[in-house]
Amino acid sequence: MISPLSGISILVTAGATRERIDPVRYITNDSSGKQGYAIASALAAKGAHVTLVSGITQLAPPEHVALIAVESACEMLAACLSLLPVHVAICAAAVADFRPASVQPQKIKKRDNQDTMQLELIKNPDILAELSRYARHRPELVIGFAAETEHVTEHARQKLEWKGCDWMFANDVSQGVFGSDENQIHFMTSQGIEHWDKMSKHAVAEQLAEKIVTFFDR
Ligand code: C5P
Repeated sequence: MISPLSGISILVTAGATRERIDPVRYITNDSSGKQGYAIASALAAKGAHVTLVSGITQLAPPEHVALIAVESACEMLAACLSLLPVHVAICAAAVADFRPASVQPQKIKKRDNQDTMQLELIKNPDILAELSRYARHRPELVIGFAAETEHVTEHARQKLEWKGCDWMFANDVSQGVFGSDENQIHFMTSQGIEHWDKMSKHAVAEQLAEKIVTFFDR
């Protein structure tokens, strides 16, 4: 069997992070994890050594992939840093931008006559940006996803630049890609952009894996 990515180590983040408010409440988002899981699976099938750092999903772990299950953005970052050095990092997770400033040890009680409540949030680390700028062991190839609801390519281009990653897979989520089995990708590098047809998330994963094979073929 030909294993074009044998000897290549790849970390993939996927799924939603869950940011605790108290023991029974949290902040999260609608990410299904399907695209990240499909990518991990496609890369493992090509012989890469894949570790999936997974937030919350309903998906079964893919075969031939090492899985590290995490909840919060801070746990996800720590797990990613513990895996360095790797050849490639792919950040497909939907990481919460903010988390509660403190996690209450007991369930928060509502008080009588309470009509409003303040929840202080603080910024989460940006895992993609941290991996892209990691001086000591920056992966050779750092890849991000940009889910946008408007000005898709323009916003994704800005993210590519300020996060410092090498490739960006941008998609329009205004029609509800979260949870869907299909995706439409604009593949961006500093060299230019390719507009891919709408296709299944498995087909996107396969094409992304082919791009990585070509990258290491150079
Ligand atoms: O949420 P945003 O649109 O900024 O996400 C763009 C990319 O950055 C995605 O690849 C996502 O996985 C990554 N990201 C991250 N850590 C964050 C926010 C986003 O790795 N805190």
